[in-house]
Amino acid sequence: RDEVNRLTIVESRLHDAIRDDHLELHYQQVVDGATGATLGVEALVRWRDGATLVPPDLFIPIAERSELILELDRWVLDAAVAQAARWANEPRLGHLTFAVNLSSRHVLARSLVGQIRSALARHRVDPSRLIIEVTESALLNDLEAAAETLGQLRAMGVCVAIDDFGTGYTSIAHLRGLPIDILKIDRSFVSNIDRFDDRTLIKLIVETGHLLGCVVIAEGVETPHQEAVLRSLGVDQIQGYLIGPPIPPSEMVIALARGALVAAEQLPTSGIAQGVGVSGR
Ligand code: C2E
Ligand code: MG
Ligand code: MG
Repeated sequence: RDEVNRLTIVESRLHDAIRDDHLELHYQQVVDGATGATLGVEALVRWRDGATLVPPDLFIPIAERSELILELDRWVLDAAVAQAARWANEPRLGHLTFAVNLSSRHVLARSLVGQIRSALARHRVDPSRLIIEVTESALLNDLEAAAETLGQLRAMGVCVAIDDFGTGYTSIAHLRGLPIDILKIDRSFVSNIDRFDDRTLIKLIVETGHLLGCVVIAEGVETPHQEAVLRSLGVDQIQGYLIGPPIPPSEMVIALARGALVAAEQLPTSGIAQGVGVSGR
């Protein structure tokens, strides 16, 4: 009974936090595996609870017990698209894609496509700058309905990514029938990259992804060794602490400017003047 009471209290406080804008989005860079150029960011939600910044693992599962997760996802979607609009005309930020995580419950909600369309229209953001990340389990709950929703998003120009890929039970037959643009290899494979089995699985995921015409991203990349192996296995894009942790938007502006400066210094002539070098490193 104590646990149920605790969850109810957290739910009610989280509801108030969404209403009062006490959530924050931090952004993590996704870079090109070959050039190191920053291609996009992933929006990751945090709850500002007084002086504490609560990580999503502590409240998303509670929000997912009810329709509260729909409110939370809606808040995140709107905040991320608003940020994309604010950055649209900035030199190093205007081209970035924005990845937003959606809970499995939301993928099957009828309101999803309309919500995304209206957020993009309201903030005048090009749909091709938005990536929706869903997990395999979200799709398998109702494959047909998920395929239809994702197909509508794709028709709008929004990209679809499968997050934490390799940890669920999607088969190649499922993948073939789904409109997907990106596979994100789960970080558990990356952290065990020196194990033969995991390396073989990464190779298999990369080949499957490419056969299906998808871009393959590795997440949770922490060391130059992991990055080098992933690149040799054909992974297209890299995300992880090696490149940078999730940070508030104001810090992202500084990180990308610093990355451009470093890239420019490494060139014989000024890269910034030529408009090259957007790596965050
Ligand atoms: P995810 O979408 O797979 O996000 C990646 C998580 O890995 C993030 O944790 C990120 O901080 C962490 N990470 C990034 N690079 C590294 C690395 O090099 N090493 C390690 N060990 N970890 C790394 P975070 O921000 O705590 O988010 C955890 C999960 O919470 C996310 O996993 C996602 O499933 C969920 N989540 C986050 N934001 C949202 C949201 O806005 N809506 C929904 N529905 N779920 C969200
Ligand atoms: Mg994600
Ligand atoms: Mg993930």
